[in-house]
Amino acid sequence: MQGYADPGLCRELADRIRAALTGRLRFMEVCGTHTVSIYRSGLRSLLPPEVEHVSGPGCPVCVTHAREIAACIALARIPGVIVLTFGDMMRIPDSRGMSLQQAKARGADVRICYSPAEALQLARANPDQEVVFLGVGFETTAPAVAAVVKQAGQNGLDNLSLLSCHKRIPPALGHLLAGRDLDVDALLLPGHVSTVIGLGPYSFLGREFGIPSAVSGFEPADILMGLYSLVRQQEKQKPEVINAYPRAVKDQGNRAAQAVLEEVFDSGPAQWRGLGRIEDSGLYLAPEYSGLDAWKRFGLEDIEDREPPGCRCGEVLKGKLHPRQCPLFGAGCTPSRPAGPCMVSTEGSCAAVFKYGM
Ligand code: SF4
Repeated sequence: MQGYADPGLCRELADRIRAALTGRLRFMEVCGTHTVSIYRSGLRSLLPPEVEHVSGPGCPVCVTHAREIAACIALARIPGVIVLTFGDMMRIPDSRGMSLQQAKARGADVRICYSPAEALQLARANPDQEVVFLGVGFETTAPAVAAVVKQAGQNGLDNLSLLSCHKRIPPALGHLLAGRDLDVDALLLPGHVSTVIGLGPYSFLGREFGIPSAVSGFEPADILMGLYSLVRQQEKQKPEVINAYPRAVKDQGNRAAQAVLEEVFDSGPAQWRGLGRIEDSGLYLAPEYSGLDAWKRFGLEDIEDREPPGCRCGEVLKGKLHPRQCPLFGAGCTPSRPAGPCMVSTEGSCAAVFKYGM
């Protein structure tokens, strides 16, 4: 891994990019881990000014819609319910500034986990309480959650349910590109998601939108290799999907993970923060598992909310606004007092810019 951060290799790759450039390359990275890696490594200082970078909607906590955050907080307030979540969700504020962390401070039973499998243990240990796991994330995390749902069903754990806020990346990319106001020349595709789905689901990017794309890993040299492949596609005027992360991503993805996703979830429309409703982009429990659906079990389907006042995460997530252009950045919104999710999540663009500058 150290080799992929080697300064000499990075400089060499940056020189190759510079030599192959034929004009502007404004690329969007579609993964929060890329966002952080680019800012943390100072990678942009190696790149020529023609290579421009915008962040996209690849931070799963950031794109979780305001109504989903409101539903999580509403759940936590129900007596007898234990809410189990990954830590990033704790401090996301709703439109009134309430968060799971504040609900916990007021007596709600909200617990942080490191693996969805902990939900099974918690439900077994607390048979008289309802345990709800907050399923947030893309195709990367959804298979592990699906496996837990399957096991809960097999073991008859009827005090466990899932609030699925899972989302799919390819439909969101199609939605962004179909909007006429997205000004990008190429896409750096998420390595983690691609380990599960492979390259096939991205094939429409070149065919329908003529946009070069490359799956990339997360070390500085991985990202530069991804960028080099984008520059080469631009040079050859041949947009396709290149796997620039072959040490982790197989072209066909992970068949076992795909199988469990298909068994447990159906896709349907989902609301994304900043992007609105996107067809086919949400993952919901299939009819066979609908008894474990917390949206239905707790009557949360009609809940609504809007973005916190003044927060411009929606524009940041669409690559239209640099975090520093948000009037609240660094003043009304800091990592210790966040106004929106992009300042909370470790993968959020606002948090990355606040921490690493640029
Ligand atoms: Fe939202 Fe804060 Fe980012 Fe502004 S700086 S877009 S308020 S998270």
